[in-house]
Amino acid sequence: MTAHRQIGPVALGALVPKDDLRPVYRFAPSPNGFLHIGHAYSALRNFDMARRADGRFLLRIEDVDVDRCRLAYEQAIYEDLEWLGISWSEPALRQSEHFSIYAQAVEALQERGLLYPCFCSRLEISRAVSGMRDWPRDPDGGPLYPGTCRNLSEEERARRLASGQHAALRLDMAQAVGQGGRLLGWSEYGEGDNVRDVHAKPSLWGDCVLARKDVPTSYHISVVVDDARQGVSDVVRGKDLFDATSLHRLLQELFDLPAPRYHHHDLLRDPAGQKLSKSTRAKSLRALREEGVTAQDVRKRLGFS
Ligand code: GLU
Repeated sequence: MTAHRQIGPVALGALVPKDDLRPVYRFAPSPNGFLHIGHAYSALRNFDMARRADGRFLLRIEDVDVDRCRLAYEQAIYEDLEWLGISWSEPALRQSEHFSIYAQAVEALQERGLLYPCFCSRLEISRAVSGMRDWPRDPDGGPLYPGTCRNLSEEERARRLASGQHAALRLDMAQAVGQGGRLLGWSEYGEGDNVRDVHAKPSLWGDCVLARKDVPTSYHISVVVDDARQGVSDVVRGKDLFDATSLHRLLQELFDLPAPRYHHHDLLRDPAGQKLSKSTRAKSLRALREEGVTAQDVRKRLGFS
């Protein structure tokens, strides 16, 4: 294999005190709406596990999606967590202040020939696959990328870029799996002491976007880079991100980053059995607060004393 740029936690600017061996947990919300009871559960779960393990609990603001994130929501995150009785060990890491680090990680993949520019719009992609029966979808429900731009010639790419066309960067999944190892997996911690080995299936995501047209990174790049920089030992998050972990493991392998332990907890559902989310209009913590619900009520309802 050709030598590649050493990326690793040190090259990325590790943020962990060297001699601190305590486990590290984190809650990593995106400030694109107000926190609801599902977030409260995830945050309390992390906070509680960190406390029991005599570990550190960090707050990370995942605000790389500059279109959807708002300062007012970020401010509300601090207030809502404090209201719940959650405190964090150091100032929150705001991802929007670290774009240059994520760009380095993206460049490292580019140098290895694992990314290619994609000029397609969403509409073009859905048109390209519209006639195909049973076209595969990624775990988020989007159609797998049909590969339209994968085989453009270098001249064509250069021509389009020079003419000012914006490009997203997509992972060449087949190549990445070839370089990152086919036998990836992770340790999934269940309830109690039960641990199982999960095989990663990054190919479920196809040639996914790792840097957007307008933002030089993506959730997947930033989360993997920051979990490593912050020395996160235990990623505790909802089951909705279970499949994303396959892709995160592949990126960790490509970047020579350690794999944290993972625990994907059940998602809270509303009485109709729907997953709680901003889009299903789950009541925000602040709305509950205004109705007179106390933090103690919320903690109790979620099973935390
Ligand atoms: N920022 C992501 C979200 O709010 C969570 C990321 C994670 O926990 O890995 O859905």
